[in-house]
Amino acid sequence: MKEDRYTSCNVQIFWTETVVDRVRIPLDATSVPDGRFTLDQTYNPPRADYAKVGDPPGNRFNSHFATCKKKGEK
Ligand SMILES: [Zn+2]
Repeated sequence: MKEDRYTSCNVQIFWTETVVDRVRIPLDATSVPDGRFTLDQTYNPPRADYAKVGDPPGNRFNSHFATCKKKGEK
């Protein structure tokens, strides 16, 4: 998985694909206990799946689309 910086705000993220739709999304590089997504390591590279109750907090991330402070800015 390739770490990167989001173009508009320079925050560290990594790009991954969702398990179901294989949509490319940027996840915040820092995990958060209540993150909406979890990484499914059975894929290589790992893909993002919706987090479920009981998923370990260290493996939960938010989409940077949701957390970006520059959302909507060009
Ligand atoms: Zn951002």
